Amino acid sequence: NLTDRLESALKQIKGEGRITELNIAATVKDIRRALVDADVNYKIAKDFTDRVKDKALGEKVLTAVSPGQLMVKIVKDELVDLMGGSESEFNSKGNPAVILIAGLQGSGKTTFSAKLANFLKTRGRLSPMLVAADIYRPAAIDQLKVLGEQIQVDVYSEPENKNAVQIASNAIKEARSKNKNVVIIDTAGRLAIDEAMMTEVANVKSAVNPNEILFVVDSMTGQDAVNTAKAFNDRLDFTGVVLTKLDGDTRGGAALSIKYTVQKPIKFVSSGEKLDTLDVFYPERMAQRILGMGDITTLVEKAQQQFDEEQARKLEKKIRKNQFNFEDFKQQLEQIKKMGNIKDLLGMIPGVGKAIKDIDISDDAFKGIEAMINSMTIKEREDPDLINMSRKQRIAKGSGKGLDEVNAFLKQFEQMKQMMKMMNKMPMGRMGMKR
Ligand code: GDP
Ligand code: MG
Repeated sequence: NLTDRLESALKQIKGEGRITELNIAATVKDIRRALVDADVNYKIAKDFTDRVKDKALGEKVLTAVSPGQLMVKIVKDELVDLMGGSESEFNSKGNPAVILIAGLQGSGKTTFSAKLANFLKTRGRLSPMLVAADIYRPAAIDQLKVLGEQIQVDVYSEPENKNAVQIASNAIKEARSKNKNVVIIDTAGRLAIDEAMMTEVANVKSAVNPNEILFVVDSMTGQDAVNTAKAFNDRLDFTGVVLTKLDGDTRGGAALSIKYTVQKPIKFVSSGEKLDTLDVFYPERMAQRILGMGDITTLVEKAQQQFDEEQARKLEKKIRKNQFNFEDFKQQLEQIKKMGNIKDLLGMIPGVGKAIKDIDISDDAFKGIEAMINSMTIKEREDPDLINMSRKQRIAKGSGKGLDEVNAFLKQFEQMKQMMKMMNKMPMGRMGMKR
């Protein structure tokens, strides 16, 4: 994949003392090839590596950074640029605000519509309404209704009406009367771009005057994604792109090429079929992810959503004073469980994603640890030093674990505390706790 390829391309230069025309040539070529293989258009890839090269050669390598680090930084900055620089605005002001969703069939429009409704409801504190304007497949209405029920959002539909423009206009009237302030119109798609579909969406567009027209595209479709984006943009002049199915084995090229080709920002990225997995698109984070630097910021943000601020502050203090104990650990585990899939979360930590790729980390893996902590008295949890041999035996018995497992866990905990202590000494150690 792209990340691995870029990593190995950058490795070549890591040992070098200086960046020269000569030693950068192979790296640049590898980066270009990696991009092309990741479905980035050749011209875009070439432009990209030309810029990286110019920058790298123009840069004075200071003693503080190695040429390898410098190259990583340059490549990252260029990736960020290529994907639009910073995150873009989402316009949800209006009475109601109208969001039109367009894209090919199977790209993930209906799923995204529900995710967006959920996102606006929970994070934006808005009152959304979903509109089923896919008039060709009867099942489409049911699909949206099922999703709407899951997130408790009203779905407007007219099963007998075969006019998408009318349905959309009626839905907006209905929204006004029901005090809904955002209307999300899920439209029909075809397997390939065709004139009838384009005309229909364009007609809906002129009838409802949307705040946002979001073009939804399956990120696994590679080069095709770019061509489709171009066709839709020529016709609809959309306001933003949504990349779906980033959880799959996507080659990443779409994220890199689309912004460049249509000059429209990627606004959301979507992965998984769970309705609470929508993320605002941050070029910086995507670049980091592509380069395998992990996505600490997303991780931190996810954590912050769930963490009680007060608790986080207390925890930070404890970690700083090296007083982190089993009671805190137990609370942390509970927080992690609330955040969702543990493997996904761990995967965002730099270096960890790859290591655990093939390992099955089920939430059950944490049950044993919880059982052991639960078998400790509060005193023991707060002061792990108390735990002597007889206490260990009692904990083992209580949790149904072996004495060796209890010992191993206590040791791991001690190591974790050592690590926290070390991190406290580093200037960036508490970065994740900053708010
Ligand atoms: P539409 O035809 O554009 O409305 O697409 P749907 O929303 O019906 O999605 C098509 C299929 O892709 C469904 O099986 C969805 O469950 C699935 N899907 C949608 N979004 C994602 C995603 O982000 N990740 C994964 N893995 N599957 C998705
Ligand atoms: Mg659909």
